[in-house]
Order: sequence, then C-alpha cells, then structure tokens
Amino acid sequence: MSINKSYLRTSEFPSIWCPGCGHGIITQAAIRAIEQLGWDKDEVYAVSGIGCSARTPAYMDFNAVQTTHGRAITFATGMKMFRPEKKVILFLGDGDCASIGGNHLLHAARRNIDLTVIVMNNYIYGMTGGQCSPTTPHESRTSTTVFGNIDRELDICAVAIAAGATFVARSTAYHAAQLPRLINQGIANKGFSLIEVISPCPTGFGANNGYKAPADMYDMLRDVSISVDKAQSMSKAELKGKIVTGILMNEPDEEYIDKYDAMVAKILKNGNNSEMQVIEVGPETGKNIPIDRYEFCLSGFGGQGLILAGIILSEAMIRQNKNAVHNQSYGPQARGGASRSDVIISDREINYPEVTHPDFLLAMTQDSFNKFSCSVKKGGIILCDSTYVKPDPIEGVQCFEYPITGCAKETFGEVKTANIIALGIMTGLLDFVSQEAVEHAVMSRIPAKLKELNQRAFNLGCVQGRQLVTRILK
Ligand code: SF4
Ligand code: MG
Repeated sequence: MSINKSYLRTSEFPSIWCPGCGHGIITQAAIRAIEQLGWDKDEVYAVSGIGCSARTPAYMDFNAVQTTHGRAITFATGMKMFRPEKKVILFLGDGDCASIGGNHLLHAARRNIDLTVIVMNNYIYGMTGGQCSPTTPHESRTSTTVFGNIDRELDICAVAIAAGATFVARSTAYHAAQLPRLINQGIANKGFSLIEVISPCPTGFGANNGYKAPADMYDMLRDVSISVDKAQSMSKAELKGKIVTGILMNEPDEEYIDKYDAMVAKILKNGNNSEMQVIEVGPETGKNIPIDRYEFCLSGFGGQGLILAGIILSEAMIRQNKNAVHNQSYGPQARGGASRSDVIISDREINYPEVTHPDFLLAMTQDSFNKFSCSVKKGGIILCDSTYVKPDPIEGVQCFEYPITGCAKETFGEVKTANIIALGIMTGLLDFVSQEAVEHAVMSRIPAKLKELNQRAFNLGCVQGRQLVTRILK
C-alpha cells in the first residue's frame, strides 16, 4: 500500500539512514497511523532529540522541531501546554529517552500529559559510533563494551508503566503491518503514551553481534518476538531473551492539561476569594495604567528577603489583573551570597521570562549596583539602599537613594523589614502600582504575629517613596 506523500518532506530525500536501518519502517508506520486518524498535517507537531532517530521529523512534512539531547520531552511539554489542541508526537532514541532524558520521561508519564513518545530502540547510540546505551542487551558487544555488556538492559516499557503512562506498547520494525495500529492507538490515547519499537541497526549493533546481513536482524526479531497474550502463560525463565509485543498498558486516566485548565477555571471563578482577591483599580486611583512589558530586578544578598519581595510584587500585580512572571537566582550560600529576584509584568502574555534590561533596579548592595546598574534601560529607575550603596550616576537613568536597611533597624529594630520598606518605596515611586494591591499581597504572605510590624514598615515605605518623587519633581 502506498504512503500519502503529502506527509513527506521529499526535498530531504534520500535519507541519511544506512541500508537495512529500521528507522524508515517506523517513520512510515507513524505516517500511516496519522493518515488513518485523518489529521491534517498542520495539526501535528513532530519533536525529536539528537541521534539517528532525530532525523525522523525532518522527513515528515509536519511542524517539526529538533531539540537538544535528552530534552525533547520538556520542549514537547511546553509546546503542548501552549497549544493543547495540537497533536504532539516525539521520535526518540533509546539513549535520548532512557538515559539523558530518563528523568523527563518519568515525570511526563506520572503527569499523564497528552504526548506520544515513539522510542526507536536500536540498542545503542547509533549516530555517535555505536556506544552502549541503557537498552543494550546484556552481554552484547558495542564499541564501548567490546567484551560484552555487563549491565542489565533497561525495560523502557516497564519504567513508563511504573511511572504512570496510560498507554504503553511494544513492537519491532519486523512487524511493519502491526505498527501503524499500535501507534494509532497510542496517539489517540488522551494522556501519556509510549510505544517502543525495536529498530535494527545493522551498522552499529548488527555488525558487532554476529548479524552478517541486515535481514538477519529482522529474522531474529521475528523469531524472538511473542505476543503479550502468549507471554501471559509463560514463566520468567521461558520469557528470557524474548521480546513481548503488543499493548502492555491501556488504562486511560485524567489528562494533565485538563486538570490544569480545571484548576485555572476554579481560581478565576473564586476570584473574590480573599486568598487571591483581584483589586479593582479604576482610573480614579490613577493605577489603571496599561503595561506592555515592565521588568524589575531586585538585587542584593541572601537573607535580605528579595525573593519574597519579588513574589509579593508579582502577586500584587496579579491582583491588579496584570500578568506576572517571577524568577529568582542566588549564590550557593543560604545567606550572604548574591541574590536576585526578577519580576516581569504585562497586560499581554509573557512569552520570554528573563529580565535582560530592567526598567527598575532595586540595589540593596554595592556589588549588585555595580553589576546591574549598567543594564537598566534608558528612562529606567534605580532605587539604592544608601545604607550600603554609593551610586555613580548612570546617564538617562533616574536614581533614588534611601537608607532602607538603616531605617528598618532604627525605626523597627528589625532589619528583616527592609524588604517590605523597599516594596513600600517602590509602590510610592511607581504610578501603576496600587498600594492596596501590594498591601493585600504583603499581608497574605506575612505570619499573623508580624503583620502589624510589616504593615507599619510598608506604610512608611509608601510615604518615603512619594516624598522621593515629590523631591525630584521640585
Ligand atoms: Fe540506522 Fe544504525 Fe545507521 Fe543509525 S547507524 S542510521 S540507527 S543503521
Ligand atoms: Mg539508540
């Protein structure tokens, strides 16, 4: 039966695969399965990692992404979350899927996210020279196990089932007629599916293990394969060396993105829940200002509460009905090392989560001022804790100074209130930040016994922020 050529990227042919390689058979089977499901080719995302298997999406005329080694499942997870209506199919090698990417496999399976992983298991790292992989059979010879593999081979299907995959099947490139049906069922399952296909590699595996011709490997696959039904009546000893083919797991369960969407809907429905109350910021408060993208960098040392300040600021912005992303980084020391907390806010979706040129820099140490002040955007703002920072002027950037830590110590007897004072000053300085929204966010994050202290610290900060602006305007 001929294949639907509209699903092929024929400009890429001839393929790079060696004569007798099983990967072409698997590619053809996947295309047949998609054709049987009647999917338009623009509906499909084909994702790969690195290796011989990674060429598969290049030969298929779907939306194709080749990612980094072992990370294809993480890329695919992001793609599926962003475009849940798309069908995301991964073509991975055994090393890619079970060694470098093994951890990602476990977690995608336990989430039951709607991805289909087709593992093209050729028992080795084919493209890089036939090295031993996690699935290399025990005692087999490879370029790195020339006296035979002393490791036991990993059963990828068993791992996927144990981790929570809801559809798992195994077949071989010999079973070309059975394959499209298995792949079809796998990709039709709404949840995490894994189909392992043993794929002969005459070049890297066969030549080292006594298979004189590519056809010999196909004969071997025919001879050692048994159906899952037949395997049920066989003992462990009888199953040794056999390849059990067919559907090993088919138990649909709730899918991850459905659960995620349900949770988001619940949160939005409970918008008046005091846990995450949306603050109405009408034009009368002067805070309902559209924001295309505004980047904050809160920097200093560990222990100054900058991570918490970033989280509070993000929550406040969400209460103002903005989108917000928070990112944090800190040195290896729990306290005392460099610490940085980034916040991005926007009325639009935030597709790039990194702060590169902040509009607002809070510098709580001289080091952080020296390191980040030059990256502040022209027209941006720097707020320095003058207890520690002596700022140099930066052209085109407005710099405000206030002894934040000194004030925390002298006024409240507690340096830990410095982050809340800083949040208050930022609130006073910035037109679009609602005092009410930040106050709600502060109070929801502070333990009851410290609420009154932090309320006073925040109010003081707001007053000081407004005074700093007034002083500049004079
Ligand atoms: Fe196929 Fe092996 Fe050649 Fe890679 S090295 S293309 S897996 S036969
Ligand atoms: Mg491989």
